[in-house]
Amino acid sequence: MNPSELLSVQSLNVSFGASTVVEELCFSVEQGKTLAIVGESGSGKSVTSLAIMRLVEHMNGSINSGKILYRHGEKEIDLAALDDKAMRKVRGKEIAMIFQEPMTSLNPVFAIGDQIVEILTLHEGLSRSAARKEAQRLLDLVRLPDAKELLDRYPHQLSGGMRQRVMIAMALACRPKLLIADEPTTALDVTIQAQILSIIADLQRELGMAVVFITHDMGVVAEVADDVVVMNKGKKVEQAPVADLFANPQKAYTRALLSAVP
Ligand code: ADP
Ligand code: MG
Repeated sequence: MNPSELLSVQSLNVSFGASTVVEELCFSVEQGKTLAIVGESGSGKSVTSLAIMRLVEHMNGSINSGKILYRHGEKEIDLAALDDKAMRKVRGKEIAMIFQEPMTSLNPVFAIGDQIVEILTLHEGLSRSAARKEAQRLLDLVRLPDAKELLDRYPHQLSGGMRQRVMIAMALACRPKLLIADEPTTALDVTIQAQILSIIADLQRELGMAVVFITHDMGVVAEVADDVVVMNKGKKVEQAPVADLFANPQKAYTRALLSAVP
């Protein structure tokens, strides 16, 4: 791995039964930078992120070959080779993930504050009162107004955009070095989308974390990415710095995606 890299995916192959859905995929994520993965629906973007988190096996998928190298302190570890116990220490603490529809990840029967406090007491070893303070700080960080009052609200009492901000706050609870955001704004209104994108960009600058931002929207790519991987049918089409990709796309597939941008 190059010293500037945090994650390096090498010749990754993922399948469900007989069908290979990610094939010989290679890309890397620089520390503190945003890598966008873009491609049409079904191109293997979500499967790639679930493979990095080693959640794909929980969905009856399998990683058949390849490496997922991750810089863990002084060491490089291959996430593809870790057992479940070791991987549990990576999820949340090192690499966190947010999804398109936050309602599926928030527990409807617990107040927002209790859900964040639970993460902080369980994984960060904070006392309940320290965890509650920290939960409020996290909600402030994602620019939710009246954070203190919000702690006692339930998920259904929040708008979609607010729930997504809560999910970002939860993802940040364990101070991950890498945030994987899988279409985090797709289910939201355009104005709310813009807010979420700017929050993620601000947090990335403030916290120095790296972000893998998955989207099917080239407009979003232009706004958030330092580097871009274009995927189609499970394979990488090309990878380039964002300015180069827009100015000088190498592949017809990329040009077609770009021509769809208004
Ligand atoms: P994207 O996120 O780019 O829209 P996905 O990564 O979700 O695409 O899917 C890539 C391919 O893997 C698709 O052909 C999809 O049908 C298949 N796939 C995804 N999840 C599963 C699953 N749990 N079982 C079987 N096939 C799946
Ligand atoms: Mg997807």
